[in-house]
Amino acid sequence: MNQQPTKYLMWIGGEKVEALSGEKFDRASPAHDRPVGIYPRADVQDTEHAIRAARQAFDYSTWPRMAGAERSKILLRVASQIRERANELAEIEVLESGKPIVQARGEMQGCAELWEYAATLCRHSYGDTYNNLGPGMVGLMFREPIGVVGMITPWNFPLLIISQKLPFALAAGCTCVVKPSELTPGTTLVLGDILHAAGVPAGVVNIVTGFGVPVGTTMSAHPDVDMISFTGSTEVGREVMAAARVNLKKVELELGGKNPQIVFPDADLEAAIDAIVFGVYFNMGECCNSGSRVLLHRDLGTDFISRIIDRARQVRVGDPLDEKTKVGAIINEEQFGKILGYIENGKETGAQLRLGGERLDLGSGRYIAPTVFTGVEPEMVIAKEEVFGPVLSVLTFNNPAEAIRIANSTMYGLSAGIWTRDIDTAFQVSQGVRAGTIWINTFMDGYPELSFGGYKQSGLGRELGRFALDEFTELKTVQLHLGPRQNWWVPNEGTT
Ligand code: NDP
Repeated sequence: MNQQPTKYLMWIGGEKVEALSGEKFDRASPAHDRPVGIYPRADVQDTEHAIRAARQAFDYSTWPRMAGAERSKILLRVASQIRERANELAEIEVLESGKPIVQARGEMQGCAELWEYAATLCRHSYGDTYNNLGPGMVGLMFREPIGVVGMITPWNFPLLIISQKLPFALAAGCTCVVKPSELTPGTTLVLGDILHAAGVPAGVVNIVTGFGVPVGTTMSAHPDVDMISFTGSTEVGREVMAAARVNLKKVELELGGKNPQIVFPDADLEAAIDAIVFGVYFNMGECCNSGSRVLLHRDLGTDFISRIIDRARQVRVGDPLDEKTKVGAIINEEQFGKILGYIENGKETGAQLRLGGERLDLGSGRYIAPTVFTGVEPEMVIAKEEVFGPVLSVLTFNNPAEAIRIANSTMYGLSAGIWTRDIDTAFQVSQGVRAGTIWINTFMDGYPELSFGGYKQSGLGRELGRFALDEFTELKTVQLHLGPRQNWWVPNEGTT
């Protein structure tokens, strides 16, 4: 492993550049407390420079006008480069984010699949036609790329989340300005190298590293940006939306979640236990899809809860570079304090702390033991707010209607899991729960083909699947008249 921090450059207008000010910032590994990356610190001027490059590329370059088949070949080259460089990319993400190495390698394969899938969509951007409008009238509806798209991403799945946006926007023919989280910019910058090598023309993708303020705020408010695609917290999502009012740009938001797993007594309980533990501790719980609430039917009783706790106790927390680690380090001190604050709140408000709840001292870095609270009531803070850490809240319900009511009792609506062998229960509950994704007898599986996004304050719009292409397009209606047209002005009707 390289012990020296890697020095990165941004990508603007097809060139690798420092910030105009020469300023930089660095990142220390949250597991090893040593610097792992140094990045240019962009300000307003750099961001405007990147937006100009993307605007120029959209208005004048070949990219938006290129045949879909050509764009498709380029996207496939990107996918194969991601596969080739998967180990290097995974290691960067482990060192910047603290996530386990085996998980990170899996994510890189997932990224490649997203690029491969989007490549197929390049050839499927099409509209609609009408020939039933009456004699002589034909209606054509074209899908056109929306223009310059600003993409702002968080720190928890750096390359995966940009791969849920960028290839779809490129498939539609858009040009982009990308701002990764300042905590995890490395793999997004390496992606810049990969895009360049794969033949993406200069200025089509520009990557700017820096802080939310001023880089994200400049992108959100800038009149030359036609759309913002944002993934992050609901709070910042609201700010992005407010800033976007300047030119009424389109906003697509992927935000937080407080996702319930609802378990009925007839379920495969062994499978449910595994999914509950995976659902909440995967990526240290720093996951928008985290199954941070589990809703248990009252008849499951205390024995089932003990089985969940026993399994959670066996989850291995440790150095994320260790192949056996399942739960790595917490991203930064701020998030660490926030999670411990939620644990204190759970204790103070009367929930029973049954496992964990404390910091683990592993010599370096910040770790939190897998934590389980039982006796959680729907109105408690730990039942309603996104902890974004390895903390499970266990609630109980008496019947499907009550399970649905509790599931819907937060401001979020991202995803939910349902565990039952009864098809009626499975479908009735999935129809009642207001969430963008429902998993029945599984949890947190994802496919590039299937749309992803939130109800309520979990988001706006959809990523992935064929509908994602539509998000990055405008619809243009062209009406064509054939033959003589009936005049509006008729000569013998007089002048007044
Ligand atoms: P934040 O909302 O804090 O940040 C997200 C991105 O926005 C970062 O790049 C950040 O920059 C930038 N940003 C910060 N302030 C502004 C601003 N005022 N205007 C524009 N951009 C800004 O989220 P986190 O990075 O902390 O990620 C965690 C959150 O993301 C969680 O709430 C989680 O639920 C959500 N999330 C949602 C997902 C989904 O698909 N629904 C997936 C993954 C995460 P900087 O890094 O400099 O702060």
